[in-house]
Amino acid sequence: MKAGNSNSRRAMIIGAGIGGLCAAIALRNEGWKVTLYERSSGIRQVGAGIVLAANAMKVLRKLGVADQVQAEGAPIGRAEIRTWDGKLLVDLPTTQQAKKYGSPSYIVHRVKLQTILLDALGKTADVQFSKKLVGWNQDKDQVTAVFEDGCTGEGELLIGADGIRSIVRRQLLGNTSLRYSGFTALRGISVFDDKRYPLDVGGGFEAWGPGKRFGYTYLGNGLIYWFAAINSEEGTPYPAAERKQKALHEFRGWYQPIEAVIAATEETDILSHDIYDCRPTGRWTEGRVALLGDAAHAMLPNLGQGGAQAMEDALVLAQCLQSVDTGIPSALQEYEQHRISRTTKVVRQSRLMAKVVQTEIPAAIRVRNWLLRKIPPSMHVKRFDWLLGFEL
Ligand SMILES: Cc1cc2nc3c(=O)[nH]c(=O)nc-3n(C[C@H](O)[C@H](O)[C@H](O)COP(=O)(O)OP(=O)(O)OC[C@H]3O[C@@H](n4cnc5c(N)ncnc54)[C@H](O)[C@@H]3O)c2cc1C
Repeated sequence: MKAGNSNSRRAMIIGAGIGGLCAAIALRNEGWKVTLYERSSGIRQVGAGIVLAANAMKVLRKLGVADQVQAEGAPIGRAEIRTWDGKLLVDLPTTQQAKKYGSPSYIVHRVKLQTILLDALGKTADVQFSKKLVGWNQDKDQVTAVFEDGCTGEGELLIGADGIRSIVRRQLLGNTSLRYSGFTALRGISVFDDKRYPLDVGGGFEAWGPGKRFGYTYLGNGLIYWFAAINSEEGTPYPAAERKQKALHEFRGWYQPIEAVIAATEETDILSHDIYDCRPTGRWTEGRVALLGDAAHAMLPNLGQGGAQAMEDALVLAQCLQSVDTGIPSALQEYEQHRISRTTKVVRQSRLMAKVVQTEIPAAIRVRNWLLRKIPPSMHVKRFDWLLGFEL
């Protein structure tokens, strides 16, 4: 943490999600006085896991929290892709990948990750819950944030880390409509153990069937995190009482342990959401205001990179704001220039991946599966070099 002449610089961050919390730590570490505003009354209790790929782990290490995340999560030792009925398509070379990028992927409970990030801030930042931003205005010297309860906040810059339905983005860019992915997601956490996927190895598998995908991964502490993506009309999310039956129905007869892990999950521990992304935009900043994370580049979860990209944004933002001799607006523009083409590529590749995985066309499925079997393990590592081997 730097001290001294930059202590007077005040940054406001809207949203205490993964992106906002990482940005707060990164800016605090550069000597900024940070106020973080979150509309919820505390850390959101999202009952799901999040995979942290090697590029995310690299950022967390630079922020000084990787050890805690590793202790609370589980390394992904195995990552198989199978057909819906269990035929192995590829056993991804996780050891080779970990060696190459300096870290395996980890999976951690979202609430634990956010708690670690919040604890890392401790009293070094002013975190205000139950503060819903409704708008902002700026002049040449500062930004004023306006909240639903009538309060205001002032700072030299404002970072909109307020997620996929960002109010900051709406004011900055106008209405940028969300794009429905064509599928809905169910996610669950359950106490479960299957001999084929020993907990001490970690990880698990994905099974791909026509228009559906199921993922199974060890989350640590004897828990399995599973997710299902099912092609559906928009507006499908299921009421809590129907989720388990729906999942059992959709995956009846699939590769075991799929039905067994769903059956072992408490109804109240299953989440249901339609999945969206945002068309990439060519602009994230206006004067002293900038977007970060899903607010800037919401993407489909098919590369497991939304959180990782938000973390990378946070670090690059703080690097660009190390020295603001040329002024804050130009430092924010520099941040945008560093990040926009990479995140646009990730948004596009995630969308492409979703098409490949969720296809219902029999000929496309045959070709896809044939290719997955044929590609040598080293190619599976190489084709994600640009993503996981990114230097910050
Ligand atoms: C099914 C699914 C699986 C995923 N899996 C992975 C994965 O394995 N790995 C990965 O890296 N990513 C994954 N992602 C993506 C990842 O969850 C997101 O990209 C990430 O959470 C974005 O973080 P964020 O901080 O930008 O936004 P959010 O996490 O949405 O946080 C935004 C915060 O802003 C607050 N907020 C909103 N509006 C206001 C307001 N007006 N005023 C004040 N506060 C406000 C919200 O309450 C929230 O706390 C997945 C996403 C989905 C949907």
